[in-house]
Amino acid sequence: MRRFITLLIVLASPVAAQDSAKAQPDPIASLVARLDLEHYKATLKALTQFGDRRQGTTRNRAAVDWIERQLRSYGCSDVSRLTYEYSPPSPEGRGGQGVRADTRGSQGVRTDTLRAVGGGRYRGTRAHTGVNTDSLRQPDAQLRALDAEPSTPGQRQEVYCTKIGATHPNEMYIVGAHMDGIGWGEAANDDGSGTALVLELARLLSAPDVVTDRSIRFALWNNEETGHNGSSAYVEQRQALQGKEDPPGSGRYPEPTWLGMIQHDMMLFDHGMPRADGTLGPDQRPEADVNIEFQSRAKFAEAAQRLAWMFQVANERYATDYPASVSAHMTNTDSAPFQDLVAAISLRENERGTQIGAGWDPNWHQPTDRYSTYNDKDFRLGLNAAQTTLAAVAGLAGATLK
Ligand SMILES: [Zn+2]
Repeated sequence: MRRFITLLIVLASPVAAQDSAKAQPDPIASLVARLDLEHYKATLKALTQFGDRRQGTTRNRAAVDWIERQLRSYGCSDVSRLTYEYSPPSPEGRGGQGVRADTRGSQGVRTDTLRAVGGGRYRGTRAHTGVNTDSLRQPDAQLRALDAEPSTPGQRQEVYCTKIGATHPNEMYIVGAHMDGIGWGEAANDDGSGTALVLELARLLSAPDVVTDRSIRFALWNNEETGHNGSSAYVEQRQALQGKEDPPGSGRYPEPTWLGMIQHDMMLFDHGMPRADGTLGPDQRPEADVNIEFQSRAKFAEAAQRLAWMFQVANERYATDYPASVSAHMTNTDSAPFQDLVAAISLRENERGTQIGAGWDPNWHQPTDRYSTYNDKDFRLGLNAAQTTLAAVAGLAGATLK
């Protein structure tokens, strides 16, 4: 809490911050400056070599292995795997909760009165959404073959690692994204973009000259697309271990006490509201922003809201291009299993319920969710979300440079 208040004061007082900056360079600014658009893009591109990384397939397991190798190469501490079982509630291939739908060319509909998932209200034009389950809609034969193996029930794994706090190793922030995808594409935006963001932060914060007071865990969830089963398994298995020193007297805390959970899911595409004919603009809209959401119905809503506004302030101070906005309807991602246990927020390209759910992202769960679909203005929105989270978490965890 003290750290929280200190950071809030520093962030809210640009004059005081500038004064202290004269004496000592701002370590947060130095850290944020290490983020690089080309490096972020290269990490995202590398993830797409595993196609849509659908849970329960060889390509998904290969991606988990690859992610683990990256975390180890960064020098991130205590690289670990969480193992759980997953069996789909309905036969594979029916697209889970989704329905087959073609968003392109569909007629826009006005739905001012309906409630969106998460509790928000739709405004303006809405286009159709859904999960593509038709392999023939992937025109690239090589990618179609890569995505062809169906999911089978059974054991699943997901990887995480930790930046261990120097003075409070028993407390941590969790920074997450889901590495699985769906839809016969490359799951580049959903959620290669968030996965690459978390990997970049793990890499930068694991650098030998970075010291943090508190711990930071980097989690690459599996099985989000089936209903956040991977993050739910984590909560189930590890919730009760929080803050316990193990072995006693060792100074080691396999599950530091949770101080906050920050999820990243779909970071690239903010081309605005669908037009009347259901199509989207070709470019990132000039008003594009990073959407920080908390859930007003969560038990920890008040703490989550404070955390969300801290991220907004961090964005204001440190992000180079795009602003951030805060809203109250976080839903349908891996922060949900945490929201009644700790302050939990998500960062996204748009609000999940009222915007993505209204067809603002025509590549969502579609064969077009490929690396080549996006341009640098899209990737830069993801980078700005990375700047936002890096700045906020570095402040909260008390990062300094040796
Ligand atoms: Zn997602």
